[in-house]
Amino acid sequence: MKEFEYIFEDVVVKPSNAPSFTINGKEVDIWDDALLKFHSKSIVEYVREKILEMEEKGLDLFPEIVGKTVEKNMVKIALLSGSNILFKGKKGYGKTTFSKSIAKFLPEKILAIKGCKIHDDPTRPVCFSCKRKVLEDEKVELTFVPRKWIRIAGDPMMTTRQLIGGISLQKIKEGYDLDHPEVFAPGRVLKAHRGIAYFDELGSIPSALQTLLHELFEEKQITTPEGDIVPLKIDCIVIASTNPANYKGVSDIKEPLLDRMEQIEIGPPETIEEEIEIAMRNMSLKIGPLIPEWHLRILAGAVRCMRSKECRYASRIEFEPSCRATIKLFDHLRASAMLNKRKVVMFADYGKSYENVKLALKSRFEVDYEEEVDKDSIIEGVVEDSIDKIGSEIYSSIPRNTFTEIMDELAKAEIVNVYEDDDFGSSLYSFASSMCKHPEEVASAVEMTLEAIARCTGLLEKIGVGVYVCAGIKG
Ligand SMILES: [Zn+2]
Repeated sequence: MKEFEYIFEDVVVKPSNAPSFTINGKEVDIWDDALLKFHSKSIVEYVREKILEMEEKGLDLFPEIVGKTVEKNMVKIALLSGSNILFKGKKGYGKTTFSKSIAKFLPEKILAIKGCKIHDDPTRPVCFSCKRKVLEDEKVELTFVPRKWIRIAGDPMMTTRQLIGGISLQKIKEGYDLDHPEVFAPGRVLKAHRGIAYFDELGSIPSALQTLLHELFEEKQITTPEGDIVPLKIDCIVIASTNPANYKGVSDIKEPLLDRMEQIEIGPPETIEEEIEIAMRNMSLKIGPLIPEWHLRILAGAVRCMRSKECRYASRIEFEPSCRATIKLFDHLRASAMLNKRKVVMFADYGKSYENVKLALKSRFEVDYEEEVDKDSIIEGVVEDSIDKIGSEIYSSIPRNTFTEIMDELAKAEIVNVYEDDDFGSSLYSFASSMCKHPEEVASAVEMTLEAIARCTGLLEKIGVGVYVCAGIKG
């Protein structure tokens, strides 16, 4: 049974014992300068080299991630040290984005033995079949494989076969060919060989499988269902994510596995500016009506308030809305403005009783006891508070004499309908213009200014969406 020897043997191919390697049938020298960088290195080495190279050039290693300077640095250090990483945090704060951004430190392609189910390195094959090929065959065909980022979703029902795969020495004894799927059928984690294995919700993987993973990563071996211990020198970087403990349906990560990872907490964006930037980058409606600064701040502010202890509903909110809520809020308001053929988002786009805001928020937070009507009133409350806050900032930025002039103009006009009028008083118009980044935002700025005055002074009264009269004039 010669096959058995390969299984336990640590095979290293050097120029002296190498078969003839071919790519597309043409013989190649894989130790030639042109091909050398595509094999023989471990994933950790590739990543380390790339990070140092980018650092040398002064490049931002994670341009896709907004803010998070401390976390970026921790990731960098962990990767340089050859560690695996566990991102801990609630959903929607960029754990997956972080993990994907690490994949780009891998080479775009690497050289592998053609036909190998796990893309073995021609100089360090791991699977039985490739070990046999490089030692026995005269010619071994190679191929390039693109960089690998394999997502493994934590599933409490996951089986050993799905995660690790099927490996059977018994079948080899029975005379099966080494390539036979009954002998070796790699699961998700083996498919991440020479790439990145991203465990989304590592804690949801059954404990028994976590033990197998630990054996695979640490001992570089697995125990087959028949009890045989098979060496498997899988080379990959493990990135995992987990929600904070005691969140619904998430069990703990076993201690031995935890001990092999560096934990990095990923929380919500630290500032409202970062929150807005993240949402703008991730919107589905990349182009469309403008969303002026004040609306961005009102909406992002409302979401952030729901996460804060200072929120007046804090004790009721059990599960806070993530950045996805902010992203969808921006999307919905832009969509509404688009439908109404407006060039800029206005308060009308929030919906009469904030339906469009509720559309984005309602499924993205949980309250202490589920009553839909409560969720509605919480949303209305936080949006109102947020408009008050931004409104008072804007009101206090109006210079005294400008304010007097605006009020004189409004008294003369008697009634202003922001959605129909296009001729506003010159003081109002010029103050509103000063708020805008774009001339098309003026109508929205006028509405925001009037709303701010109405909320902060009581000198104006809102009698309909976008319709304001001086107090005392009505009727
Ligand atoms: Zn192989």
